[in-house]
Amino acid sequence: MSLISENLQAVHQAIAQAAQRFGRNPTDIALLAVSKTFPAEDVLSAWQAGQGAFGENYVQEAVDKIARVQQLSQAQEFGANTSSAAIEWHFIGPIQSNKTRLIAENFAWVHSIERDKIAHRLSEQRPDHLPALNVCLQVNISGEASKSGVAPEQCLELARYVQSLPRLRLRGLMAVPEASEDEAQQRRAFAALASLSQRLVAAGISVDTLSMGMSGDLAAAVAEGSTMVRIGSAIFGKRNYAV
Ligand SMILES: *Cc1c(COP(=O)(O)O)cnc(C)c1O
Repeated sequence: MSLISENLQAVHQAIAQAAQRFGRNPTDIALLAVSKTFPAEDVLSAWQAGQGAFGENYVQEAVDKIARVQQLSQAQEFGANTSSAAIEWHFIGPIQSNKTRLIAENFAWVHSIERDKIAHRLSEQRPDHLPALNVCLQVNISGEASKSGVAPEQCLELARYVQSLPRLRLRGLMAVPEASEDEAQQRRAFAALASLSQRLVAAGISVDTLSMGMSGDLAAAVAEGSTMVRIGSAIFGKRNYAV
C-alpha cells in the first residue's frame, strides 16, 4: 500500500472518530484532498485509493496538473480507481480577475469567492456545456487584516448577488480561521461560520456546504458542523514551500 493511501485511510479514520465524538454522521463530511505543490502522480495515487475530489490554490499549477493527470490516467500503468469516477477539481485559492476564465473552464467548485466582480466574471465565463459552477463564499471569520474573505457583515449581500447569477450555484461558506493549537479557540471560529450560514438560511438562501477544517483543526471543524474538510499535508506530506 502506498504512503498516500495509508495517509488517506488515517484521515478517514480521524473524520470517523471526530464524527463519533461529536454525534455527527461521518457520511455527511466530504473529504477534499488538497494537492497544491504536489505532482500529478500523487493525485493519481490518491485517486487510485478511492479519493475523488482535489483542491488546488494556484491557477497555472492547477491547470498544468489537471492536463497531466488526464494524460497519465489514460496511460496503461494507471488503472481505474475503485469507483472509476472522474476527478472533481475544486479551486480554493485567492482569485485574480485575469484568471477567472481558466477557473471557470477547469473546475467544478470554487471555495474562495469574496467579491461580486469575481463572481460575475466566473458566471459570464462558465462554458455552456458544463453544469453551473458550485461556489462557496470565503468569509474572513477571524477578522484578520491579512486574511482573504468577505467580512461577515457583508456576507448576506454577496450571497444574494451570487444567487442571482445564472451560471453559479451557491453551495455555502468557507473559512480559514486564524491558526491556533487550542481546540476551544478553533471551535469558536468554526461556530461563528456555522452561525453565519444559519443566518443565510433564515434569510431564505439555501446552502448545504460548510467548507471548514484542515489538517490541524479537523476535529474542531467536524464538531461545529463541517460538511467538507480540506486536507493537504496529512495526506500528501509536508509542503516544500510555505503557502
Ligand atoms: C493549503 C490549504 C488547505 C490544506 O491545508 P493543510 O494544513 O495542509 O491540510 C486547506 N484549505 C486551504 C484554503 C488551503 O490553502
